[in-house]
Formats: sequence, C-alpha cells, structure tokens
Amino acid sequence: VRRGEFELIDHFFRDAGVARADVLVGIGDDGAVLRPPAGSDLVAVTDTLNEGVHFPAGCDARSVGHRALAVNLSDLAAMGAEPAWALLALTLPAYDESWLEAFTAGFAGLARTHGVALVGGDTTRGPLAVNVQALGFVPAGAGIRRGGAAAGDLLFVSGTPGEAAAGLAIELGEHQATAGAGGPAGAGDGAGAAVDVLRRRFLYPEPRLALGRALRGIASACIDVSDGLLGDLGKLAAASGCGAAVELEQLPISPALLRFAGRPGGERMVLTGGDDYELCFAAPPGRAADVAAAAARCGVPVTAIGALREGAGVELRRAGCPEAFRHGGFDHFAR
Ligand SMILES: [Mg+2]
Repeated sequence: VRRGEFELIDHFFRDAGVARADVLVGIGDDGAVLRPPAGSDLVAVTDTLNEGVHFPAGCDARSVGHRALAVNLSDLAAMGAEPAWALLALTLPAYDESWLEAFTAGFAGLARTHGVALVGGDTTRGPLAVNVQALGFVPAGAGIRRGGAAAGDLLFVSGTPGEAAAGLAIELGEHQATAGAGGPAGAGDGAGAAVDVLRRRFLYPEPRLALGRALRGIASACIDVSDGLLGDLGKLAAASGCGAAVELEQLPISPALLRFAGRPGGERMVLTGGDDYELCFAAPPGRAADVAAAAARCGVPVTAIGALREGAGVELRRAGCPEAFRHGGFDHFAR
C-alpha cells in the first residue's frame, strides 16, 4: 500500500454504510460528529479480526467484511442496543482492488441491513487485520448487562450454536470426509446442503439485534456467544455471582450439525464451538412467556437450556445427573 493508494481506499469506504441524519460530520474530517437521541445512553464496542487467527488465510474477502462488522453488532445486540455508527481501521499487506471491492460489499451489505453509517476509517500497511468500533444506543438505563441475573433465573440461547464451528472446520478442510458421520444417510443428497448451511453460518453470521432489543426489560443478563456457549455462559454466571446448570438433552442441535457431527460430536460443538454470535441470556421464570413472545416477534428460535443457581461454575446434566465435560467428550462423574 503506497501513498495515493490510501486515497483510493478512502473512496471504497465512502459508501460502505447508510446515510443517517444523526451524523453531523462523517468521513473526511479529523473526527466524526455524532448526535445520539436525547434520553439515550451510548453503547460502544470494538473487536478485531486477524487473518490466520479469527479467519483462515485466504478467506473470501466478502465474508471478512461481513464478519468484521457482524462480531461488533453482536456485542451491541447483547447489550440490547440499537446500532447506529461504525469506524473501520484496516491493515492491508498490499493494495488489491478486487479484494477491497468484495470486502466493502460484505461490510456494506450488513451495514445497510441494520442501518449503520460508516463514520470514519483508517488504513495502514501490515499483515491483514480488521478493527471495527461500533456505536449504538439504548434508552437511558436500559442496557442489558452480564451481571444482572440471580439464582433461579432460567437460561436461554438463541438459534443453533455449534454450526459455525462446523462451518469453520469445513472451510479449513478438516472434515470434508466426515459429513454425515453419525447420520443415518451417510453422504447422501442432504449432506451437501448441510455443508452449505454450516459454511454459511461461519462465513455470514447474523447478529441478533432485533432479539437483543426485544429482551430489554425482560432479560436479567445477556452475553453474545463468540467463544463457545459453555465459556460465555460461565462468564454470565460469574458476573451475576451465580453458578449454572445446563440440561444437555435440551441443547438445540440443528439437523445440519447432527448430520455433520453426530449426537455426541454435535453436543460438543454446541458447547465449545466458537463464532456463533448467538445470544445467551437469563430471565426470571415468571418472564418465560415474555421471552417466548419476544423470540416469536423477532422470528428467532430461542431454547431454554437450564437455570442459574447458588454457587459457582457450570454443571452439565443429563437425565437429572451431573456429567463431566472432558476434552473430546463426556464422562459421568465418578462421585
Ligand atoms: Mg461479546
């Protein structure tokens, strides 16, 4: 990337989001000047994707652009925030116009879907990395936090976690031959469709913004699942000063994941696979009907998977009995 090429890159970013009336000064000045609605709290998040760490080297640039914004919008969703603005800092090894076109198309497509304006950008030379900051707002005091839940609250997860981890394994070429393992039909007609579903879930995650907003005033705590359900649920429970119990038989394992990984493997991917960008949240038992109504209104499946309880740590249960999680599978507690 040479001087002059940076100016060309600016050209790509100018139309990479929507126009918003609350952007008083956007791209092109030293800073953006933004006006949040009166009576709202500003919610700010940031996340970086590094090539070879957060996405495979050579990954489709359109997916990289989509995911760089999606992972940030997912954090806003977990706070119950409505997204408004984003800033993008891009580190590129070289000037590559077709890569930039595809990257911008992926970023802009998701920005338009959720009404996000790109209000600032920066470009530097180096190993491929994408940092995005996203800003949004909630009505004053209405932001949903990780630490607001109490023992007895029910636990829920949106969508079908685990699919993205399977999709990444397929992208990396680790599991081409195992599609259908554990499934009754082997590598029949449905296997190709399942592979497409799983790949898409990794490459183009859909942040659960509508659900996050609908859960304001209902969810007592919320976190987005980026590092695996078990780990992220553990963070929610710890922040709330609680332990948690998860009923393994209630985990939502999608048909595509079941076909790809079988039952024990699918369970493991639901619990530990990353990159899902689903919401894991808690709500008092008396609000379960409100959770179901909010999920139905948003058209997002939500599954009750357990409850918070006194103590610490996350216990996995099957048929009422504790089960230990070990690398590669489950074992019953010796005691
Ligand atoms: Mg998060």
